[in-house]
Amino acid sequence: MKRYSVFAVAREAARHHLGWERAWRSPEPKKKYDVIIVGAGGHGLATAYWLGKNHGITNVAVIEKGWLGGGNTGRNTTIIRSNYLQDPSAAIYEKSRSLYETMSQDLNMNVMFSPRGVMMLAQTQHEVRGYQRTAHANALQGVATEFISPQRVKELCPIMNIDGPRYPVLGALWQPRGGTARHDAVAWGYARACSAMGMDIIQKCEVTGVRSEGGKVVGVDTSKGPIDCDRLGLVVAGHSGVLAEMAGFRLPIESLTLQALVSEPIKPCMDVVVMANTVHGYMSQSDKGEMVIGGGTDGANNYTQRGSFHHIEETVRALVETFPMVSRLKMLRQWGGIVDMTGDRSPIISATPVEGIFVNCGWGTGGFKAIPGSGWAMAELMAKGHAPLADAFSMTRFREGRFIDESVAAGVAH
Ligand SMILES: Cc1cc2nc3c(=O)[nH]c(=O)nc-3n(C[C@H](O)[C@H](O)[C@H](O)COP(=O)(O)OP(=O)(O)OC[C@H]3O[C@@H](n4cnc5c(N)ncnc54)[C@H](O)[C@@H]3O)c2cc1C
Repeated sequence: MKRYSVFAVAREAARHHLGWERAWRSPEPKKKYDVIIVGAGGHGLATAYWLGKNHGITNVAVIEKGWLGGGNTGRNTTIIRSNYLQDPSAAIYEKSRSLYETMSQDLNMNVMFSPRGVMMLAQTQHEVRGYQRTAHANALQGVATEFISPQRVKELCPIMNIDGPRYPVLGALWQPRGGTARHDAVAWGYARACSAMGMDIIQKCEVTGVRSEGGKVVGVDTSKGPIDCDRLGLVVAGHSGVLAEMAGFRLPIESLTLQALVSEPIKPCMDVVVMANTVHGYMSQSDKGEMVIGGGTDGANNYTQRGSFHHIEETVRALVETFPMVSRLKMLRQWGGIVDMTGDRSPIISATPVEGIFVNCGWGTGGFKAIPGSGWAMAELMAKGHAPLADAFSMTRFREGRFIDESVAAGVAH
């Protein structure tokens, strides 16, 4: 892999950009791999990357039914934060956030990580108490957050109306090193690094069946024929239930469409990320100037992966009181992604009843921020059989009643 650098840009500029090589290879599948990962979203690709980087396992295929990064990884609003309440969540999300800090250097790809600060608004007394509690928990967990006053909120985000008639801003949970990153670049960076390690990323190849013998996985059936493997990672977000059914077990996952929209580009007016959970909307400004706006999940389970008109109305109506300028914006695009929700709104990174099959899912509405840490933990689990960051997220917790309840922190906010 030729390294990207300022010198490479200058060299290619001098020869009409004819020397760039493809970022990753697109090979036909081999008959057998040590490890197959299903799903070339951020979590699947990061799993493959850390399998190679941390554990020296490179005879790996990542199989994707569409194009890599075309699932939720390329559809989210890119918010990165680690201000979760429960210890296992703070540990994995903070690991992830810290890996984002050096991701561009690690992957030799500019992922445009922008730690501009994330604030979660408290607009009811209930939220004030909840976020103060989270700030105290974060202090014990070593996650840098603080509960800030309405005046500080206004200083950080002058376009906000903090004296709204229904929901005045009473403070906010502020994480100064939270922020955003370019989601496609995260997928592309991992894909390029995996390909450079000799792994095969096989796009437009749908897994249609999972084969096992004597309770142990032996391979998958795909639209490009059968492929054998010793270990299999299912990392398919909203389709986790479908893949689990192929493998012969059930997951406590519901699949729903989550929607988002962007406005026309405008001049820079907001250099922080704001999440308003009571009215339910969240917003940041992209480098192109668009206001990136996230809304809620659909009211009923579905696999539609598209936007719907009433969500624009609901989301924009929710934001207008706190951000009056939103009423003057034209909206440009709207879309949806199929998110995978667990009952306690925490992920599953786990071995399964079938020997050799591991599952990584349940990131729901908030898994973009977790990509590097989740891949780190899943790779360790697949390589060694257990992983300190993943152990609490085993799927057996639902049977054993060990829930990691993040329903307030992660259920609606991203
Ligand atoms: C609108 C929206 C906004 C969001 N905002 C945020 C946010 O601000 N911050 C945040 O942290 N998170 C956010 N999220 C959540 C985040 O995007 C997801 O949790 C994360 O991207 C999941 O990544 P993944 O790799 O697990 O899944 P995906 O990126 O969905 O990848 C799974 C892949 O599996 C493939 N696949 C499925 N079935 C098969 C099959 N049978 N064979 C082969 N391949 C298959 C799919 O095609 C897909 O590419 C948001 C999500 C949405 C939809």
